[in-house]
Amino acid sequence: LQSRLPQVGTTIFTVMSALAQAHGAVNLGQGFPDFEGDPRLVDAVAEAMRGGLNQYPPMAGVPALRTAIADKVQALYGHRYDGDTEITVTAGATQGILTAILCCVHPGDEVIVLEPCYDSYGPNIELAGGTVVRVPLTPGSFRPDMARIAAALTPRTRLVIVNTPHNPGASVWTREELQQLAELLRPTDVLLLSDEVYEHMVYDGREHVSAASVPALAARAFIVSSFGKTYHVTGWKVGFVAAPAPLSAEFRKVHQFNVFTVNTPMQHGLARYMADPKPYLELGAFYQRKRDLFRQGLQATRLRPLQSEGSYFQCVDYSALSDLPEADFCRFLTTEIGVAAIPLSAFYADGFEQRVVRFCFAKKDETLHQALQRLAKL
Ligand code: PMP
Ligand code: GLN
Repeated sequence: LQSRLPQVGTTIFTVMSALAQAHGAVNLGQGFPDFEGDPRLVDAVAEAMRGGLNQYPPMAGVPALRTAIADKVQALYGHRYDGDTEITVTAGATQGILTAILCCVHPGDEVIVLEPCYDSYGPNIELAGGTVVRVPLTPGSFRPDMARIAAALTPRTRLVIVNTPHNPGASVWTREELQQLAELLRPTDVLLLSDEVYEHMVYDGREHVSAASVPALAARAFIVSSFGKTYHVTGWKVGFVAAPAPLSAEFRKVHQFNVFTVNTPMQHGLARYMADPKPYLELGAFYQRKRDLFRQGLQATRLRPLQSEGSYFQCVDYSALSDLPEADFCRFLTTEIGVAAIPLSAFYADGFEQRVVRFCFAKKDETLHQALQRLAKL
C-alpha cells in the first residue's frame, strides 16, 4: 500500500504516555485531566441512556444541544449562530478540524498554519491534497507575527488556522491581534479555522477573544471547540463547529459521510448540563490555581517557566541544566526523574529545537506536588 501519510508515525502523545506508564512516571505529558468530571454531568448522560435516547440523533446533532451552544456563544461572544443551520456537533474537535479542512481545501490550495501547532493540522491538510504553509509564532512568547502571516498569503491561500488559547505555547490572542488578522484577510476570500478548544481556560483577568466576536472573522470562520476540555471528559470526544450557514452546509456534506452523527445520550446529557453556566465560567479560576501551584513549585527547580496565559499547559526552558535535544530530555525526564513531558519540537514539522518542553497541569494537586518533588531533584 502506498501511504497517504508517509511521514506520519505514532503521535508523540501516545508515545510519551506509553513511556510514562512503562516507567511509573507522573504523566504531565499528554493533555488530559487525571480527575473526574462533574457527577451531575455523568448522571445527565446516564439518564438519557436509561430514558431510551440511544438511536441516531439528527445528522447535525441533537437540537437542544445546538441551541444550548448557540445560547452560550451569544452570551459570551455576542454573535448569534442559528442552531439549525450554523452549528454542527462533532466527534471531538479533532473530527471538526478534519471535516472543516476537507470541506474547503482543494488539491493545490495553500493553508497557513502557525507553528508550533497541534499535530493533526498538517496531516489533515495533506489528506485534503492541500499544501501546508508554515509560519512560525515568535519563539518564547508564541505570539503571532502579522508581517510574516501577511507575507505568507498568496492567491492560492484558502485557509488560515489559528489556535487560541494556544497548545503548546499557552499564549492567548488579544483582540488587537484578531483585528489585525481580520484586516489582513479583508481583501481576500481566505477562510479561517479558529481552534478554540481551550476557550474557558484564560488567566490573570484575560478574556478569550473568540473569532465569533470579531464580525469580519466570524463571517469567514469555522470555530471549533471541545466539551472534552471544558468538562474534564477528554475521552467522550464530543465537540462542535460553528460557521455561517453556507460554510456549515458544505461542512455537513462531508460530516454526514464522515461520522454521520455523534453519540446521542452524551449530547442530551451535555445539553441539560450546559443550562448551568457556572462550570465553564469557573474553569479559568479552577485552572489558574493549578497553574499557580505548578509555577510556584517550579521555582525550586532549574527549569524556567515561560508564560502561561491560557490552556492547561506550561512550557519550561531547560537550557540551564541540559544540552540534550528536547525528545532526549523528555525521555530522560520520564525514565530517570519520573515525570513525563512533551518536547516542543514535536509541534514543528522540521523539529525546531529551543530547549523547551511542555507540561500539562490538568492534574490533581497531589499529582502536581509529586511531579514537583521529583523535578526538584534535577
Ligand atoms: N485542538 C487542540 C489545540 C487540542 O489541544 C486538542 C486536544 N488535544 C484538540 C484540538 C482535539 O480535541 P478533541 O479531544 O475534542 O478532539
Ligand atoms: N491535545 C492533547 C495534547 O496536546 C492530546 C491529544 C492527543 O493525544 N491526540 O496533549
